[in-house]
Amino acid sequence: MKEPTEKTTGKSPYWSKRVAGLEPYTPGEQPRDRRYIKLNTNENPYPPSPKVLEAIRAAAQEDLRLYPDPTCLALRSAIAARYGLPGADWVFVGNGSDEILAFAFAAFFGSRDRMERRPLLFPDITYSFYPVYADLWDIEYETVPVTEKFEIDTAHYRRPASGVVLANPNAPTGRALGKGALTELAAFHQQEQNVLLIDEAYVDFGAESMADQVQRYDNLLVVHTLSKSRSLAGLRVGYALGQPDLIEGLRRIKDSFNSYTLDRLALAGAQAAIEDREYYDAMAAKIEATRENTRRALEEAGFEVIPSAANFIFIRHPERPGAELFQALRSRGILVRHWNKPRISEYLRVSIGTDEEMESFVRICRGNT
Ligand SMILES: *Cc1c(COP(=O)(O)O)cnc(C)c1O
Repeated sequence: MKEPTEKTTGKSPYWSKRVAGLEPYTPGEQPRDRRYIKLNTNENPYPPSPKVLEAIRAAAQEDLRLYPDPTCLALRSAIAARYGLPGADWVFVGNGSDEILAFAFAAFFGSRDRMERRPLLFPDITYSFYPVYADLWDIEYETVPVTEKFEIDTAHYRRPASGVVLANPNAPTGRALGKGALTELAAFHQQEQNVLLIDEAYVDFGAESMADQVQRYDNLLVVHTLSKSRSLAGLRVGYALGQPDLIEGLRRIKDSFNSYTLDRLALAGAQAAIEDREYYDAMAAKIEATRENTRRALEEAGFEVIPSAANFIFIRHPERPGAELFQALRSRGILVRHWNKPRISEYLRVSIGTDEEMESFVRICRGNT
């Protein structure tokens, strides 16, 4: 995002055509003007496991002068073990799952040896990075409308395509698809020889994971992040699960770009996070409970709350415009996310914070309605 002191014109004779044509993703605000209750970027309100911090401290030593392991073998092995996969060759790790998604778009959805041109498919309402990656790599895509209630109908994705990307639960709605529908879709596109990429950034907050299906479907890539359920947005680690040939596709992109995408501290912290299941299962359960309490309180206050299986909720008040509610909350020190975009401009996406934070949020919502 632009700093107030940045003076740029939005064009330059030195820019390549590629740069001039980009429309970059805008991340949620990370404000510095005052203290906010931050419910705008789906960060976790709780600290990472103490074992993670211990591991990072232990890794902060003189051998930082040495490059990290470019294959990230120890971390990939730990992830394979966690998901019951045959070995590290079923796992790719990256500098945040955003990096993995960018690599995956280049690896699987760019032009392939095909007679006819087919589009990549993803929903019209979903993670807004997907069209950015598609444009970055010149990938033709079509968006498939979600229903009035923001549901994804997987039947609309059973058609000729160059691939399919679905966030499950979806962002910013929080709605989740069941495994049955996704498994059918994986089978259909396996026949078509297309990759089905499931972005499971929020899966640990109550949705069904497709992680245990990658051994059945050689076209299925499941992408996870440590940013949300592992409370490590600041460490930048994500991973992908898939059959070794898909993983090799991602590795070929990475090694044509930057061999060391994960540093020594990130590798140590991420491995400790993957191994401390108990701590994180309890934390996810707590956030789910807070989400349900918040939902009930908002519904009592007249809000519509889309059913969510994520650590955020997508809400609307029938009488209060989204932009106005956003500003009212902001002026009272609460940051949420609002998009001035067709179909969703009346909605706010609200990350689930601590119980105390959500009580403050609900109090302000009530007072202003
Ligand atoms: C947060 C998020 C990501 C990115 O996570 P990082 O690992 O922090 O890059 C990916 N996909 C979706 C849908 C997200 O909401």
